[in-house]
Amino acid sequence: MRLWFPGATRQPGPLPGGYWRAGRTRMRAVKIHYTVGIDSAYLGGRYFQILVRRNGEVVAFCPIDAYCWDSGEWNGEGPGIEFEYYPPKDGPPPESILTPEQIASAGPLFRWLHFEHGFPLSYYDAPASRINRGYRGFISHRSLIQKVMHHDWISHAQWARIIGITKPAPAPTVPTDEEDDPMLITFATNNTQLLIMANRYMPLDGPVAYSLAVVQKRAYMTGLNPLAALAVVRDLCPEQFNEEFRRG
Ligand SMILES: [Zn+2]
Repeated sequence: MRLWFPGATRQPGPLPGGYWRAGRTRMRAVKIHYTVGIDSAYLGGRYFQILVRRNGEVVAFCPIDAYCWDSGEWNGEGPGIEFEYYPPKDGPPPESILTPEQIASAGPLFRWLHFEHGFPLSYYDAPASRINRGYRGFISHRSLIQKVMHHDWISHAQWARIIGITKPAPAPTVPTDEEDDPMLITFATNNTQLLIMANRYMPLDGPVAYSLAVVQKRAYMTGLNPLAALAVVRDLCPEQFNEEFRRG
């Protein structure tokens, strides 16, 4: 398995101690960022794994599975991809976030992450429904639940252009009591839907068993596998889950 994207310029990071000085990530989620800067290469290798410059050049600072510090609680979930974008100079979002060159070179990069490393080609961007760790696929930084919130993202239209679909897939139906929820998901997997439900119905500081029953019932009603919900919930809050279910 190749740990360096073949299309990248390699520029080893600034810190001594080897690429895996802080370990390896779980390789579950690819976090999508923009830099809010003009030349951010000096940050790479410590704060993120890959930078895509305005001119489309892809720069890799360390092996794709090396631990970096791009997203707080989410650092260990997988690589961070930074798109160079400085709003005062480049123009307002979302149109100006990515140049055509960045879109063109992100295509092979994202497909490589999918085919070589198994990240599902799904993109989650829903700042009003931020989620916890456990999601598998690509996700915008502004959709992560962190102590320190961030606001960088790319649009669903840009995602669709990157991975080469001309028309975005319709968002899957997610049962919700909040009809005004702006959530949009393309290419969602069942597990993504279950995770979203789990995030919505799990009181993360309360008993798990009741919420799990709610998630499983809703999964069943929407044709998802209720047993899979168990695994998602266990993944989402392992300590509470183990505690409650060990007690029986
Ligand atoms: Zn970010």
